[in-house]
Amino acid sequence: MSANGSHDVVIVGAGPVGLALGRMLGLQGHEVLILERWPQPYPLPRAVHFDDEIGRVFQSMELTDEITAISDPVPDFYEWRNASGEALVRIDWSGTGPCGWPTASFFSQPELESMLAAAVERMDNVALRRGAEVVDIDDLGAEVVVTFTVDGQDTDTVRTCFVVGCDGANSFVRDRLGTASHDLGFFFDWLIVDTIPLDERQWSPMNWQLCDPVRPTTVVSGGPGRRRWEFMRLPGEDRDLLNTTERAWELLQPWGRTPENTRLERHAVYSFAARWP
Ligand SMILES: Cc1cc2nc3c(=O)[nH]c(=O)nc-3n(C[C@H](O)[C@H](O)[C@H](O)COP(=O)(O)OP(=O)(O)OC[C@H]3O[C@@H](n4cnc5c(N)ncnc54)[C@H](O)[C@@H]3O)c2cc1C
Repeated sequence: MSANGSHDVVIVGAGPVGLALGRMLGLQGHEVLILERWPQPYPLPRAVHFDDEIGRVFQSMELTDEITAISDPVPDFYEWRNASGEALVRIDWSGTGPCGWPTASFFSQPELESMLAAAVERMDNVALRRGAEVVDIDDLGAEVVVTFTVDGQDTDTVRTCFVVGCDGANSFVRDRLGTASHDLGFFFDWLIVDTIPLDERQWSPMNWQLCDPVRPTTVVSGGPGRRRWEFMRLPGEDRDLLNTTERAWELLQPWGRTPENTRLERHAVYSFAARWP
């Protein structure tokens, strides 16, 4: 915090985007405050993949060793197969991409967020405040006043030159600013099943898609020591009945995954949407 008690930039949200922006601005010498509504980081897997361009972004954040330690580079190809097992598309994901990093890498989002949070917490000019939900933003022209609740009780304010909304898909900041977003109206529900295999099974190729209309399925790494399956919700299939532990095990069983050889880390029906700000 600068001498007059204000910050150059207030970032709303400590997901991967807010933490990465905090790190980048901090490295450039700015005084930054990151406000995150939840007191604890979200502990379960979510995103799992980044490419060589993002690898280079981590390098620019001076986090080369840290990201290398928690990610698995892809050694082979990414294949899309039909129901008979024939390859429809094969994309070479091995080797190094144009940005000088592995073409594709897999990771676990909680480990990535923990690494980014540790990196910003090492910086004297970046403060990360959890349990602080932003509830108002007042643009006074020369400065912006940000109001937030503290642990869901009292409110506090902070003055800043810039506010950046990194507050995720249902962004309060975007709503408050009244900015438009693009929506292609293309969305589907998938049951995401994250697992930790307890055996030594090798996965080849490491990542692939089964394009079987009976049950389109994604079979990918979830980062070091993890595997993810994604099962598309079929037309007419009940979302709540799909999203049960029992159903997750039933769907994993044909893939040879059982409670004897696998720990189920989480299951969730995730609706992806073709939207961007
Ligand atoms: C089951 C599941 C599977 C997924 N799989 C993938 C995948 O395979 N690939 C992929 O790319 N993505 C995937 N995602 C999505 C991925 O997790 C998000 O794209 C990613 O987290 C976005 O990062 P972000 O920093 O923009 O937002 P978020 O991670 O959503 O972080 C935003 C943060 O802002 C905070 N916040 C919100 N409002 C306020 C407020 N008013 N004040 C203070 N803080 C606030 C939130 O608490 C949150 O911590 C998945 C998500 C889920 C749930």
